[in-house]
Amino acid sequence: MLDFITDGQTLLLILALLYFTECLIWVKKQSVAFVSTSGKRWRLGTPISWLGNANGAILILNPLPPPGRIFLSHLLPISISPSGVCAFNSQTLPSGARPTTQTGEFISFSAITKVATDGAYLVINGQKFAKCATPKQAKALAGVIGKVSEAKVSKREALVKSWISERFDEKRVTRLWNEAEKQIDSIRFWGAMLLVFLFVGAPILASLFGLEQMIIPVAGAMVLFAVSIAIMFFSAHRRFFPAESQERFENLIKMIVCPPVSMRAADVLTKNLLAEFSPIAVATVLGGPGEQQFVRSFVLDLQHPLKHEINDAKAAETIDWMNAQQLRSCLSLIERVDRFKGVLGPTERDGDSVSYCPRCGVQFVLDEGECPDCPGVELVAFSDAGKEVTLSQTSG
Ligand SMILES: [Zn+2]
Repeated sequence: MLDFITDGQTLLLILALLYFTECLIWVKKQSVAFVSTSGKRWRLGTPISWLGNANGAILILNPLPPPGRIFLSHLLPISISPSGVCAFNSQTLPSGARPTTQTGEFISFSAITKVATDGAYLVINGQKFAKCATPKQAKALAGVIGKVSEAKVSKREALVKSWISERFDEKRVTRLWNEAEKQIDSIRFWGAMLLVFLFVGAPILASLFGLEQMIIPVAGAMVLFAVSIAIMFFSAHRRFFPAESQERFENLIKMIVCPPVSMRAADVLTKNLLAEFSPIAVATVLGGPGEQQFVRSFVLDLQHPLKHEINDAKAAETIDWMNAQQLRSCLSLIERVDRFKGVLGPTERDGDSVSYCPRCGVQFVLDEGECPDCPGVELVAFSDAGKEVTLSQTSG
């Protein structure tokens, strides 16, 4: 009797551990994770810092069903201007510094003969140029750079501008999300069913009829569930990630060989579904608490970027051009969305503060200097922003 309980429990524990490892995802420093329990209210997922390194950390997803409540969005690893490409993006997220992989190397469009990818690397003229967040991001960037370098010089500016503004198009985010939800929802449902079957139904069956009697039928049903989910996953993946055949086949095999993996199939689909869009456009569509603060800090970072060590004039020009374009797209996005009215209001003065950092908003009793948390960003005295402060005081 004791043997029977131990065997059953051991099996259950192994299945639970396999399932739990599927609930861990790696979030890079330049990535933002949006998570939700209900599917309605979204918040920024915070990775566990001690489960990480300089490049990123592990985020634990809610193990309770349904899965597929995670979206990632990444900052770009490069800047593109009408003159060329620089392996540097001056943006940083509130959660971290710039990745050390950004070299600042510049290459002009006239010097580009070949663009390709190697996994997550963007390869220009046969050399690894930048490390991207995902192979999908690398392919997308290679596509844009290829298109712009083949275009006439006079057409380049319009092409780059329209590519940047597409990244901030919240209507496209909504459209893609609504389109995918229908297909992903059934995968979510069957993943949740398999979870209930394995962790509730199977133990009940085993205790009623005995583990030895039930192990073959339960295993058979589990494989049947997994294969059906894997087939649904494969067709949805082919529709939304047509170029990612490697990821598609890898996950298909994993689900069939190790059925507990299929319970989280929806995560693989949602994770990078909206990744081609700027984090601010994704935040706009998903909404939720903390959204206003996130939008504000995203824009303030573009307005007051941290200083960098790139001295090459053409590289710096490309970085600044891209930054200015992204800022323009951000501001026009904020203007389009009613609930963002006032999100960029002035910093309210606290007590005896004399100055504040225009990037992070921390206040100081010094009247000048650099913010200790934001290298290169000069403090602004409240007296200089006097008019704005009076306005905010009357409204607050
Ligand atoms: Zn600061």
